[in-house]
Amino acid sequence: MLQLDSHPTGRHFLQIPGPSPVPDRILRAISLPTIDHRGPEFGALGLKVLAGIRQVFQTRHPVVIYPASGTGAWEAALANVMSPGDAVLMYETGHFATLWQKMALRLGLAPEFLGLSGIDDTGLPRSWRHGVQAELIEARLRQDTGKKIRAVCVVHNETSTGVTSDIAAVRRAIDAAGHPALLMVDSISGLASADYRHDEWGVDVTISGSQKGLMLPPGISFNALSPKAMERSRTAKLPKAFWAWDEIVEMNQSGYWPYTPNTNLLYGLAESLDMLLEEGLPQVFARHQRWAAGVRSAVQAWGLPTQCADPAVHSPVLTGVITPEGVDADALRRLIHERFDLSLGTGLGKLKGRMFRMGHLGDSNDLTLVAMVAGVEMGLKLSGVKLAGSGVAAAMEHFASHAAAKALRQAA
Ligand SMILES: *Cc1c(COP(=O)(O)O)cnc(C)c1O
Repeated sequence: MLQLDSHPTGRHFLQIPGPSPVPDRILRAISLPTIDHRGPEFGALGLKVLAGIRQVFQTRHPVVIYPASGTGAWEAALANVMSPGDAVLMYETGHFATLWQKMALRLGLAPEFLGLSGIDDTGLPRSWRHGVQAELIEARLRQDTGKKIRAVCVVHNETSTGVTSDIAAVRRAIDAAGHPALLMVDSISGLASADYRHDEWGVDVTISGSQKGLMLPPGISFNALSPKAMERSRTAKLPKAFWAWDEIVEMNQSGYWPYTPNTNLLYGLAESLDMLLEEGLPQVFARHQRWAAGVRSAVQAWGLPTQCADPAVHSPVLTGVITPEGVDADALRRLIHERFDLSLGTGLGKLKGRMFRMGHLGDSNDLTLVAMVAGVEMGLKLSGVKLAGSGVAAAMEHFASHAAAKALRQAA
C-alpha cells in the first residue's frame, strides 16, 4: 500500500484551492461498479448529469463534458472557435491567465495580454492583486476598428491570487465598444462556489473543471456554450477532433458520448449536483462568502496583507496571504504540512515564495476552517513571524456570530 504521509490518525487537511476535499457521499458514489457506457442505465445517468450541470452554469444551452483536466477544456474552447493566427485579447490576472495565454501561443493564435502595469508596495505585480479592469478591455476593443480581435478571454476566479473578476462588466465593455468578439471565461475554480451566470452575463464559452467547487476528484472538465459560439465553431479552422463540440452535443441528446466517458466520475458528478441543488445555489454561494469572510478576519487579525488588494473582489473560494519580507512562504507551508498534516496552496509563478493560499471550498465546514486557521497560526509562530493578534479568535468570533444570527432568524 502506498504510504501517503506519516500521520497515521485523523484526516489530512487538504486546504489547497483544488483539488478540494471530496465529500464521503461522492466518494461512495464513485465506488459503484462501472457499467456499460452504451447500455440503458448509462443513458439515464448521462441525461441527468447533462441537465444538472446546465443548472449549475445557469445556462439553457449545451454543456460539453470531457474526460480531461481543466487545461484540456481550455484547449477545447480555443480549438472549437478559433482559426490559425486569430487575434485574442487576454487579461493578466495571475498565473492561470498566463498559462492560458501561453496555450493560445502554442496553438498558433496571436494573443494580446492586457493588464495593470507596475509593482506595488509589496513588491508584487499590481495586475496580480486586482481583478480584470473592464475599461481597459473596452478601450482596446474601441481601437480595433477592423474588428480583428476574435475573442476576449478572462479568468473569473484567479486561483493563483484569490481575486475574482466582474464578468458582467466585461460583457458590458464588449457591448459598449460594439465589438463582435466572443467572451470566453475560465471559471474552473469559480463554478459552484462563486456566483456564476453563463447566460445572464452573455458568456460565449465557459470553461470549468471537476476538482474545485464541484467537489469531485480531478478528471472531468466542461465547456458551456452559447449559440454564437456554436455558430463560430462551424467555420473555425483550428484542427479539432477529440475536442469537437458538434459530435458530442449531437450524441449527448440521448445521454451518450461518441467515446468512452469517465463513467465513475459521472456517478460522482450526479451526486455532487444533487448535493448542490438540494442546498440551493444561492445558499452555496452565501456559505462560501461567509467562509471567506471568516478566513479573512483571521488574516486581518494576524496583521498580514491578503494577495487581493481590492476588497470588492475577494475570492469566496480561497484567500492568498502575503508573508512578511524574508519569510519563505514555501518553507512555512512545508513546516505546516510536516507538523500539522495540513496542505496549503503554494505561491505560483511571479508569487513563488512570497505568498501561500488557504482554500475554503469542497467538503469543509466552519470547524475545519477554524482548524486550518489554527494550523496556519501555529506555523507562523513557529516560523518566527510576529503576529498582531490571534486569527483563530477572530475566525471563531466570525463563525459564532453568524451561527447566533442564524439561530435567531430561525427562531423568529
Ligand atoms: C485549476 C485551474 C486550472 C487548471 O486546471 P487543471 O485541471 O489543473 O488542468 C486553470 N484555471 C484555473 C483558474 C484553475 O483554478
